[in-house]
Amino acid sequence: MSARLIVVSNRIPSEATPSGGLVVALHEALREKGGIWIGAHPETGPEEPALIDMGGTQYDKLAFRLTEEDRAAYYLGFANSVLWPIAHHRTDLVEINRSFDEGYLRVNRRIAEQMAEVISPEDHIWIHDYHFFPLAEELRRLGVTNRIGFFLHIPFPNITDLDVLPDPPAFARWLAHYDLVGLQTRADVARCLEMFRADPRAEMLPNGAIKFGAQEVSVRSFPIGISAESFARAAQDCAPPPAHELFGDAYVIGVDRLDYSKGLPQRFRAFERYLETYDTGPRASLVQIAPPSRESVRAYQEITADLQQIAGQVNGRFGEVHWAPIRFLHRPVPREEIAGLLRGARAALVTPLADGMNLVAKEYVAAQDPDDPGVLVLSRFAGAAEDMTEALLVNPHDVDETATAIRRALTMPLKERRARHAACMEVVHATDTGAWARSFLDQLAACTPALRITGRAAEWLRGEEGREFDPGAHRSISKEEV
Ligand code: ADP
Repeated sequence: MSARLIVVSNRIPSEATPSGGLVVALHEALREKGGIWIGAHPETGPEEPALIDMGGTQYDKLAFRLTEEDRAAYYLGFANSVLWPIAHHRTDLVEINRSFDEGYLRVNRRIAEQMAEVISPEDHIWIHDYHFFPLAEELRRLGVTNRIGFFLHIPFPNITDLDVLPDPPAFARWLAHYDLVGLQTRADVARCLEMFRADPRAEMLPNGAIKFGAQEVSVRSFPIGISAESFARAAQDCAPPPAHELFGDAYVIGVDRLDYSKGLPQRFRAFERYLETYDTGPRASLVQIAPPSRESVRAYQEITADLQQIAGQVNGRFGEVHWAPIRFLHRPVPREEIAGLLRGARAALVTPLADGMNLVAKEYVAAQDPDDPGVLVLSRFAGAAEDMTEALLVNPHDVDETATAIRRALTMPLKERRARHAACMEVVHATDTGAWARSFLDQLAACTPALRITGRAAEWLRGEEGREFDPGAHRSISKEEV
């Protein structure tokens, strides 16, 4: 019998047939292999002794329950007020609070304990994202010897920024307890290897893996994508985009969660600069969809007011009775509607200051009519820019450069638009989520699991034989060490 798959991610989809690229890919992998999807229960409540059955049909869905205190410390606190800003080069926004790190470790330890009750020795475990960095270490502590893979959906932090963590050396150790660490881009892999190279506990092996004490971990890039065909179909099936009188001659679009990493004020200013310097050609509007996110985190509270202020200023300056240059929708919009809006836009502004990949860039390309495609204006700091080199790449901090790219996108000849779109579409196909999940899981299956020694022998190897024997203690050693 082939190995079951255990997926851990912050959210588990509640619907039987989920939508959204990543979720669909994991759903398909779980359907194929059978297994369990583990995630946070959508509601907080008193601590539970075991994972809660969420009633999956083709595979099991189990949830861990967070208390209100856990949610504040682990999710809003350490994950989103420490790790997120560190990964997105905003150490100025990090909130240091002892209860955050304690909560993060406490929740990961509890999840590991509850997972250990439901996994079998042959299962392959795939853990997703920054909410769970220490989970493999906690599982190993409990004697779990399974193959464990980790995929990070956000940028790998700069190593100097890691020093802002309350316990910087723990970070490399957490990662070293995985068999395979997957990152979005080659640049992320380079940063991760730089961290290990600088760490006296790590040794770079000839096969490219890292030996870290008794652990051995491989680090590779697996650029994530979307379900290209289904997104393209959704875009085609949509009602035609709204009448032009609402938007001027054309519109450019932005679709983002409202987050400081997305570069929205800079984008609005760049659009203002485009309007300032507009003389001939199509006069476009900017449609920006940005639903609120993480509103209880302090750093997110000021962005909305800032954006509304800039949009109001630009509209006041350039608007006409029947035309507002910036339409800022601060609410979620149904996915199908987004697909149609992306298809109708002459250009997309995907200009984050830092972004692991940015799936909207790929969705915009997939949504286009290949015979008459729009143009993607893409930040160099989005992971997507590593492969989508035929987009118009910009430095989002440079308002003039972005304004020039907007003008260039709106006036680009059809032949060039088609050629650039075809090149970007190749990347979208090559990184389709189905292939992405298969490639990660194949690599995980190919990892030679370290021979893990548990119990008293582990203590002896660790040089801790004088300490009281803990039957649950374990460590692993690589074959070379044996
Ligand atoms: P992040 O994961 O940082 O939010 P991505 O661009 O990688 O950024 O992924 C965002 C996903 O959420 C995309 O699939 C996008 O279509 C979707 N999305 C973004 N904004 C909205 C919105 N306003 N309404 C619905 N879905 C959205």
